[in-house]
Amino acid sequence: MSSEYRCHFDNLLILDFEGTCEKDDHDYPSEIIQFSVCVLNTRDKIIREDVSFNKYVRPVINPKLTDFCAELTGIDQDTIDNARTFPEVYNQFCAWLKEHDFQEKRFAIVCDSRQDMWRLAQYQFLLNKQPFPTIFRQWVNLSLYYRQDLRMAQQQDAVHQSLIERMSAFYNIPNEGQAHNAMDDCSFLAKVTKRILDNGTFVNINESLKCIAGSRNVPFNVDPGWKSNFASSCKVLEAILPLVSFRMRDYNYEVNYGKCHYCFSPECTGLEHKQYPNYVYEQLKEPSVFAVTAGLMKE
Ligand SMILES: [Zn+2]
Repeated sequence: MSSEYRCHFDNLLILDFEGTCEKDDHDYPSEIIQFSVCVLNTRDKIIREDVSFNKYVRPVINPKLTDFCAELTGIDQDTIDNARTFPEVYNQFCAWLKEHDFQEKRFAIVCDSRQDMWRLAQYQFLLNKQPFPTIFRQWVNLSLYYRQDLRMAQQQDAVHQSLIERMSAFYNIPNEGQAHNAMDDCSFLAKVTKRILDNGTFVNINESLKCIAGSRNVPFNVDPGWKSNFASSCKVLEAILPLVSFRMRDYNYEVNYGKCHYCFSPECTGLEHKQYPNYVYEQLKEPSVFAVTAGLMKE
């Protein structure tokens, strides 16, 4: 029998969102349309087949899915027409946490990148003019563990494949799900998380959000083609969004959990931009739809 998992948290909640989107447009005001969570109990060392959260969400700004989005996610219009809006689904999620006794600081959220929390969730709460919840302020970015394992195995990362395909090949874990279905992605990522723990790796929160970053004080030239270039768009959105994500080593959940790493203030809700990026907005040839829709750009 192997020893206990090396993890502070009783449960890891593997979470994935799908959002509205349009082909070649990273300035799209993405709203969450699928909200899925799988549970890995780290004490019993099992993926809970009996407990999960999977809800579709009705978008409000763009209630009609683009053909590109419907094709990518496999979600049809009828499904989201009949779904609840995000604030209602988020309340259902909080009730689900309570129902299963998942207590704050005793669970951590696991995602396959920073995009779910930093971009999609942060933007959704801005659209709803609601404070950003403390449970989403920090997470385990699984791709950092994958990259660490690749380095240890002295392997190069494959190109032209999705992260899930690459993880599937590297860990030899078949991915039976449909790509870009949030629940299927969670099921797969739960298996990867379990494998990483089975290998004896210490799994901890490794990314968090803060309101001020020194790097954001350094002006940069905006790529004129940023809207259609993923990396360039991330650079612009890092400046535009009030909370910025960063990597954390030696995360101490007793001290850091639920707090802004910069100001530690409970008032730091993400609703106020403390490093308003004038220089970015000045360079844009046309206003950012993403920023304008969420009221991020001053008149
Ligand atoms: Zn702060």
